[in-house]
Amino acid sequence: MKTYYIHTFGCKVNRYETQLISEKFKKDGFEQALKPEEANIIIFNSCTVTAEADKECEYFLRKVSKFERSEKIFITGCLVKNKAEYIKNKFPEIQIITEKSELFSEPSKQIIRGFDKRSRAFVKIQDGCDSFCSYCIVPYVRNKLWSKPAETVIEEIKNLVNNGYPEIVLTGIHVGKWRGQQDGGVATSFVPLTLPTLIGKIVKIPSQFRIRISSVEINEIDNNLIETMKEYPDKICRHLHIPLQSGSDEILKSMNRHYDTASFEKKVKSIITELPELALTSDIITGFPGETEKHHKETCDFIKKMPFARLHIFRYSDREGTKASGFGNKVHPDEIKKRSNDLFEIDGLKRKNFLNENTGKKRKAVSIGDKKALTDNYITVKTDKKRKGIFEITVLEDSEV
Ligand code: SF4
Repeated sequence: MKTYYIHTFGCKVNRYETQLISEKFKKDGFEQALKPEEANIIIFNSCTVTAEADKECEYFLRKVSKFERSEKIFITGCLVKNKAEYIKNKFPEIQIITEKSELFSEPSKQIIRGFDKRSRAFVKIQDGCDSFCSYCIVPYVRNKLWSKPAETVIEEIKNLVNNGYPEIVLTGIHVGKWRGQQDGGVATSFVPLTLPTLIGKIVKIPSQFRIRISSVEINEIDNNLIETMKEYPDKICRHLHIPLQSGSDEILKSMNRHYDTASFEKKVKSIITELPELALTSDIITGFPGETEKHHKETCDFIKKMPFARLHIFRYSDREGTKASGFGNKVHPDEIKKRSNDLFEIDGLKRKNFLNENTGKKRKAVSIGDKKALTDNYITVKTDKKRKGIFEITVLEDSEV
């Protein structure tokens, strides 16, 4: 039997799309190889979000291009959208697939039935971004906005739940840009449905499962969403990932983020008042062009006072073609490293505080791997064995946020 191997770089959406590709290969009679050197066909689902991501992809391409067994090596994904000519010249033996959907079995529908080697399934509900944050390459490589129709999302989730996945993570490039049509209606341009309405429909699926929203912008959270989260505590994880990116208003403006720290803080406070047990996680970029010591201090002070459970800290990575790439006043890499260390320290304290607040409490969890479970509020707890479905667990001191 012919075999394929697929390697995924980057975000949850890429992991979802790898599953679509994998299901297509299996449908065509291929078997999945565990190692690239054992496969007839190798596929790279690439990422270009940072310079590091580019380097990582190139490292693997160099490695596999020496394999003798592989008849074909393909690369698809954001890196080829961004640098097709470069990849073509550097790796002429590797075939480029610019339109990834050519590898899906139903490109217009995009629906999966399982999620290889995972107990939580990611479901892509949306693609594309047109926000053009000044540092971000994504709108240049995934610019076309696309939303999966509500009925397809519901069908996909029902299938996955029936196939034993107790947690569904709603993913997208910019999830809050999901738009849907009114039931049975066609003329939708005036009142399109938004993310909270979709979530309101998903929670009504009668089976036992829960959803987690992968990431949502502060301006896209409305009362409707918070009310639904309150009303369905077992169906929607008590977790929101809201990217902040900087705690300095000047830097936020320069990043083309459409909020300031005061409005972010006000909204977060009202969310936490309504959902006091929520795990609030966030992204921060350090070393954005023009970020001075003063801006960095503003960021540190702001995140210290915010009720974050955990932060994902990224060092600014210059992406050619973005607006920020043309900005002067680039921050020296040594300084970026120093600033990221300050932020890691604050993040460590945040995680510790959140864990202390939760130690001894009972939470609903799902198994992730054989000896770990993930609570609804994003705490990883050690377990003795893998369990099915959603179960209650006590958060212990040696858990991790
Ligand atoms: S919202 Fe901003 S950071 Fe997120 S994908 Fe769009 S442009 Fe990039």
